[in-house]
Amino acid sequence: MKILKFGGKSLANGKGINTVIDIVENRVKKGEKITVVLSARGNSTDELEAILKKASKNENYQDQLDVFKKYQLEAFDNVDFTEEFETLDKLFSGVSLLGDYSKRIKDLVLSHGEVISAKLVTQLLQERGIDANFTDSRTLIITDAQFGDAQPLDKLSKENVIKHFSKHNGSTVNVVTGFIAANTKNETTTLGRNGSNYTASLLANYLEAEELQNFTHVNGIYTANPDLVPEAKKIEKLSFKEANELAYFGVNILHAKTIIPLIEKNIPLRVLNIFDHTNEGTLITAETGEKGIKSLSVLEHVALINLEGRGLLGRVGVDARIFRVLAHKNISVSIISQGSSERGIGLVVDVSKAKEAQDTLEKEFEADFQKRDVSAITIVENVSVISIIGQDLSTFHKPYNALIKNQVIPLLFNNTVSGTTVSLVVKKEQLHRALNVIHGEIFEISKKVNIAVFGHGLVGGTLIDQILNSVKQIEKRKKIKLNIFAVANSRKVLLNKNGIDEDWKGRINSQSADYVIDDVIKYADENHLENLIAIDNTASKIFTNNYIALVEHGFDLVSSNKIANTLSFKFYKELRSKLEKNQKQYLYETNVGAGLPLIDTIKLLHLSGENITRIKGVFSGSLSYLFNTFSAGEKEFSEVLRDAIDKGYTEPDPREDLCGNDVARKLLILARELDLKNELEDINIHNLIPNDLRKGSATQFLDRLHELDKVYQNVKDEQKPNHVLRYIGDLWGDLFQEKGNLDVKLVSVPQNSALGQVKGSDSIFEIYTESYGDQPIVIQGAGAGAAVTARGVFGDVLRLADKVNN
Ligand code: ASP
Ligand code: MG
Repeated sequence: MKILKFGGKSLANGKGINTVIDIVENRVKKGEKITVVLSARGNSTDELEAILKKASKNENYQDQLDVFKKYQLEAFDNVDFTEEFETLDKLFSGVSLLGDYSKRIKDLVLSHGEVISAKLVTQLLQERGIDANFTDSRTLIITDAQFGDAQPLDKLSKENVIKHFSKHNGSTVNVVTGFIAANTKNETTTLGRNGSNYTASLLANYLEAEELQNFTHVNGIYTANPDLVPEAKKIEKLSFKEANELAYFGVNILHAKTIIPLIEKNIPLRVLNIFDHTNEGTLITAETGEKGIKSLSVLEHVALINLEGRGLLGRVGVDARIFRVLAHKNISVSIISQGSSERGIGLVVDVSKAKEAQDTLEKEFEADFQKRDVSAITIVENVSVISIIGQDLSTFHKPYNALIKNQVIPLLFNNTVSGTTVSLVVKKEQLHRALNVIHGEIFEISKKVNIAVFGHGLVGGTLIDQILNSVKQIEKRKKIKLNIFAVANSRKVLLNKNGIDEDWKGRINSQSADYVIDDVIKYADENHLENLIAIDNTASKIFTNNYIALVEHGFDLVSSNKIANTLSFKFYKELRSKLEKNQKQYLYETNVGAGLPLIDTIKLLHLSGENITRIKGVFSGSLSYLFNTFSAGEKEFSEVLRDAIDKGYTEPDPREDLCGNDVARKLLILARELDLKNELEDINIHNLIPNDLRKGSATQFLDRLHELDKVYQNVKDEQKPNHVLRYIGDLWGDLFQEKGNLDVKLVSVPQNSALGQVKGSDSIFEIYTESYGDQPIVIQGAGAGAAVTARGVFGDVLRLADKVNN
C-alpha cells in the first residue's frame, strides 16, 4: 500500500485538480494499491478562517462566503455540497450573532475544507470508473480535546484505521480527509496547520505502508530555495535525520511530528511534483548517504536582540534567565550566541515578538542595568537566518571567507551541538547575495564573477569579445562563469544582470542609458551580484574618481588606464588603503608593457626581498618602432614617423608619444611598485619635440614634420660606430631612499647590446637586481596594441577570478 498525499495547491481549480485525478487513475490502472489523503483545495482553509473572523466581528462576510462556495463548485456540474454549505451558513451566522467563537467552532468550520475536497475527488474518480470511497478521517483519527492542535490517541486511532481498511480494501481507493480528526466526544478537532501531512504519515504508520508520497508543486527538496538561488539543485536522497534538520528550519512537509511516525516504521517518504511525472522527486529514508547532504535553509521574519554589557562576562545563569522569562511569555528563541570577547549575547526571535522580548528582558535585567552590568538591550529588526545544514566548523571558513569577500558580514553565527549545522544571521537586504555566495561555495558550483567594463573602444571592445569567446571554456576548466553585466562609455551604460551577449554593440546603440557610477553600483547591489570586478579601459582621468567608490562597494579593479597610478602619491596611498580596508584587489598589468608579465614579475621580486637596483628599457612601442627603424635604415626621420602614424603605431597627434609623458608614467608606475615615493614631476623627461613645434594643432604639426629631420640626423650622425638610438626609461640610484632617479631620455647604445637589438615595435625591460648582478632579467616582446593589451587585462581578470575559488 502506498499513501498519496495531495496539498491545497495541487487541488486548486484548473490544471491542478485534473492532474491529481489523472495521477490517481493512472496508479489504479497500473494495479497499485493506494490510499489518497487530501488537504482543503487552494486557499480554502485561509478563506474559511478569514470569513470566520469577519463574522465574529459582525462584518459583512456574505460576499466572501459566496466566493468560497463558487470556488468549490466551479467547473464541476454534478457535485452537491448543499449539506456542507448549509452547515457553514449556520455556523457563521451563529458566530456573527455571538460576536465570538471558540477553538472548537473554528475546527468545525475549517473541517469543511477537507470534507468538500475529499468528496469532490471521490466523485471525480468515480466518474472515471474508479471504486473510490470517501473516508471522513473523523471516524478514524481520535485525538485529545486540544482544538486547533490536537494530539492523536494512537491506540484508538490505529484500531479504527485498521478496521476501516480491512473492510474497504482490495481495489477500493479510500479518499481520506487530511488535517481533521475527532475527540473522544466525537467533536471535530484539527491537527494544526498543514496537518494533512501528519494525517498521511499516521495512516502510513498504522497501515505499515510501503511508501508515503507527498505531492507538491516542486520537484523535490532542493539544496536551497530555487526562487532565491537559481543554481539550487534537487536532492535525490536524504535521511530522516537530515530531513529533520531541514524541518526545523521550516520545510513543513518535514515537520518533526510528521516524520516520527515514518521513522518508527521505517517508511520512506518521497516528495514529488504533480506536474512532472518523469521526475523521481526526493526520497527520504532511514539510511544516511555516504556523504552528508548539505543544504541551505532560511528563516525570515525574525529579529535579532542584543544584550550588551561588561557584567555579562563569565556570569552564571544569564542564559537561563533569558530563556526562562521568554518562555514564560511564550516567545521562542531560535538561535542564541554568546561572544565572550564581545561581552554580549545575541538571540533571534520572531519579528512579531521582538518588542515584547525586549521589554521582558529589560524588566528581568533591571537590577543589572542599575549595576551597569548590562548596558543595552537592542533590536535589529531586518535580519534573516541562514542555516547551512550538513556544515561543520572544520570547513566553515570557506563559505565564511566568500561572504566577507562579498561584503556580507554576518551579525552573529552559531553551530549546533551535534556540529552539523551552522547558522548565520545576516541583514535582510543581504540575504539573497549571501545565500548565493554560500551555495556556490559549498556546492562548488561554477561561481559567477560579475564584470562591469568601462570604456569599449579598441582595447575595451577587444576585451569584451575575448571574454565572450572564452566564457564556456573557462567555465568548464575553472568553474568560474564570467558575466559581463555592464558595458559603459563616459556617458552611457548597457546593463544586463544575466550578461551581455555577442550583440552588445548593437544593444549599446539601442538600449543603453545615461548613467553615473552610482547607477552601476546600485544595479549590482539590487540584483545581488557577487564577485564584482570593474574594468577601466578608458584613458580618462575623470573616471579614476570612481575607483574608491567602486572599491567601497565591493568591486575589485582592473585597469589598462595608467592615470590612477600616476596621480599624486597621496592618492596612490589612499586608494591602496581603501583596497586593504575593503579586502579588494587592484590589478593593472597592462599599465606597463601591455600584456608582458612585467608588473607581476617586479611585484614578486620585490615582495620576495630581492633588491631591485635598476630598471631600464624601451617602454613605448611607438617610439621603439620609430628609433629602431630610423637607426637601422637610411630613411629620413619624418618619413619613418609618417610611416608609424600611418600604421596606427602612434596616437593621432604623435606629439603625445614624442613628449615622453607616456614613458614617464610607466616609469613612475614601476618606481612606485618598489615603494618609492616619487611624483610625476620628479622625472627628468627628454621631450623629443623641438620647442617651436610644441604648440599648435595636430594638423599644423603634421605639416611640419620635416623640421625634425635635421635635429635627429645630427643626433644619429654624432654616435660612435655601431651604435643605435633608443628612447628609454631609466630608474636608478639608491633605491633604498624615499625616492629614486627617474630619467626618460634618448640614448645611443651599442648595436649588439640587449637594448640595441630590439626590433619592430617591441618593448624591452631590463631588471637589475642584487642577486642577478650584471645580468639583468630581461622581459621583451610586443608591448603595445589592442589585442595584446586586452589579453593582458583579461589575464588580470582571471587572476582575480581565481581568487574566488580560494
Ligand atoms: N488545509 C489545512 C491547512 O491549510 C491542512 C493542510 O493543508 O495540510 O493548514
Ligand atoms: Mg604588462
